[in-house]
Amino acid sequence: MTPYKRKTYWNEPAQTGWDRSYLPEILRGLAITSRVFLRNMGRWMTGRKGALTTYYPEETRADYAPLNRGKHVLTQRPDGSPQCIACNLCATVCPAKVIEIEAGFDPADTAHPKFPLRFEIDYSRCVFCGLCVEACPEDAIRMVKETPGLTSDGRMQMWLTRDEMLSWQPAKDVAKPYPPKGAPMHQEHRP
Ligand code: SF4
Ligand code: SF4
Repeated sequence: MTPYKRKTYWNEPAQTGWDRSYLPEILRGLAITSRVFLRNMGRWMTGRKGALTTYYPEETRADYAPLNRGKHVLTQRPDGSPQCIACNLCATVCPAKVIEIEAGFDPADTAHPKFPLRFEIDYSRCVFCGLCVEACPEDAIRMVKETPGLTSDGRMQMWLTRDEMLSWQPAKDVAKPYPPKGAPMHQEHRP
């Protein structure tokens, strides 16, 4: 039986004696890291921008991709009330179990008597998967590309509230402009 011969590639890596000694390459890497660190630190100390990173939360990125799953928003009816019918499907499908909905009941509204009295999402545990948006039968919840400004040192302060989700105003939404032109901004018509 012929012994197994391992396949070789045209670009097999070859290590020189210099590479195999390791120390010079480690020192070269450390020199590059130190140079970048000191340059950024010098710029920062003299009030200039150093590293090409965003100084969050003082700065926010403006270049999120249009399909980025960022902040949740609740869509509204022409009268400004939430389109959500408090069916709880989004909360049921959520893999992180971070959506809390408290349903209200309005017998005067025969078309959609249930509405969310409280609708909150815990952003300290949300994984931004978008399943809640997919599950909603009413197109009542969407995710916009902007990220929520919920920086905090306490997890309990990272809940996105119903009013914040309703107050977001899209500059442009090709799928559906909401609230419709001339409609009042989020108004509470319910008890
Ligand atoms: S994006 Fe995913 S994890 Fe976050 S609330 Fe929606 S379903 Fe839950
Ligand atoms: S957002 Fe949609 S899925 Fe969630 S409770 Fe409201 S209507 Fe139901």
